[in-house]
Amino acid sequence: MSTFRCSVCGREVRFIDVAYVHRDVVVCRDCMPKYYVRYLCRAISKRISEGEQPACRYCRYYDECTRYIRGLRDKTSDK
Ligand SMILES: [Zn+2]
Repeated sequence: MSTFRCSVCGREVRFIDVAYVHRDVVVCRDCMPKYYVRYLCRAISKRISEGEQPACRYCRYYDECTRYIRGLRDKTSDK
């Protein structure tokens, strides 16, 4: 059985654990929430600048997104 290498964590994963494939990018199930909020979500820049978007409430990665934005704010307040 062929395996895939996750582009984010570098682990070899089985096809069943692959959450996302686009060209030569493979993302495993574990990395998917992080990958999604950083690279795929189109609402996140709006959420950062204008506050929460109505659609965000239905997003399956909502919690990860909240953590990510909190992390960004912590970084900027360090300066
Ligand atoms: Zn991974």
